[in-house]
Amino acid sequence: MPIDATQPYDPDNIFAKILRGEIPNDTVFEDEHVLAFRDINPQAPVHVLVIPKGEYVSWDDFAAKAPDVEIAHFVRKVGEIARDLDLVEPGYRLLANIGGHGHQEVPHLHVHLFGGKPLGPMLA
Ligand code: C5P
Repeated sequence: MPIDATQPYDPDNIFAKILRGEIPNDTVFEDEHVLAFRDINPQAPVHVLVIPKGEYVSWDDFAAKAPDVEIAHFVRKVGEIARDLDLVEPGYRLLANIGGHGHQEVPHLHVHLFGGKPLGPMLA
């Protein structure tokens, strides 16, 4: 079910549990501020989720509340992770679902990295 992205942060959401180590994940990158792991239900040969470790419900929440340095670090790491996964030269798709109309299901900000094959046109 899509979420209301204006809701308060739920510390029991599934990605919060992953960050606390309560649920396993297939990590591709981790540092003090960022975790990247393979999506449990991949929609492309490469499907990785990148999340900040801070408690942000959505991109909107992140943009409003995160310190500039955290936003810059997150954006830079997403680019580096794509490069490390060899996605840059063939190309890839970066996507964030936000709120109800965006069909966001997990109320912790995440961006999807898709790649590993030609993805075709974006479907709205
Ligand atoms: O952007 P949205 O919220 O719709 O996507 C959530 C994503 O989180 C889905 O692609 C789902 O497969 C993934 N997921 C995951 N591991 C979980 C729970 C959900 O990779 N334990």
